[in-house]
Amino acid sequence: MVVLDPGHNGGNAAHPDLINRQVPAGFGQTKACNTTGTATDRGYTEHAFNWDVTQRVRRILTARGVTVLLTRRDDVGVGPCVNERAAIGNRARAAAVVSIHADGHPGGHGFHVIEAARPPAGAAVAAAAHRLAAAVHDRYAAEAGFAPSTYVGSNGYDPRTDLAGLNLSSQPAIFIECGNMRDADDAARMTSAAGRQRVAQAIADGILRYLALTPPR
Ligand code: ZN
Repeated sequence: MVVLDPGHNGGNAAHPDLINRQVPAGFGQTKACNTTGTATDRGYTEHAFNWDVTQRVRRILTARGVTVLLTRRDDVGVGPCVNERAAIGNRARAAAVVSIHADGHPGGHGFHVIEAARPPAGAAVAAAAHRLAAAVHDRYAAEAGFAPSTYVGSNGYDPRTDLAGLNLSSQPAIFIECGNMRDADDAARMTSAAGRQRVAQAIADGILRYLALTPPR
């Protein structure tokens, strides 16, 4: 079982009351339930990109016999909250949890993979999460058409301690920021269906490589 977590949701912007409430984010932190995400300068939204790429990854994995569960059922709802997204992967005892996002940084371009800087679930899960991160990072760098980030982290990796989806996961979990929507070249690739298919194929290839390396748990 692989859980794919398309970041944000299309109804979030219309429901600030729901998404702004604070929820547990791990290690004593709290965070907003959910956020609206970013968009390209021409208005293509991150939640729509995340949803579309997730559908494409799901189709590729399903065709290869992998069972896939998503954290939301469409792109017009609200949430779920970040702690609930983590709980979905935990309840499924997912072999891998991949949160799919795009960044909105002013300046710079490229992708990055986010790992838990404080792994919450023991050495074996942390090692599996790192294998997942490396597999997705390497396939993405080779296939997706995006350079490693020029503005955050190091060589396309950015360990963080503030993400509920990582801090609250008992399963191997990563985030991928597929590109920078505020960069014109990245945005052009993300706005095109062919570009998103390339992104999805790279993510799916990384997940498949990880699954081949990692015995079922
Ligand atoms: Zn996002």
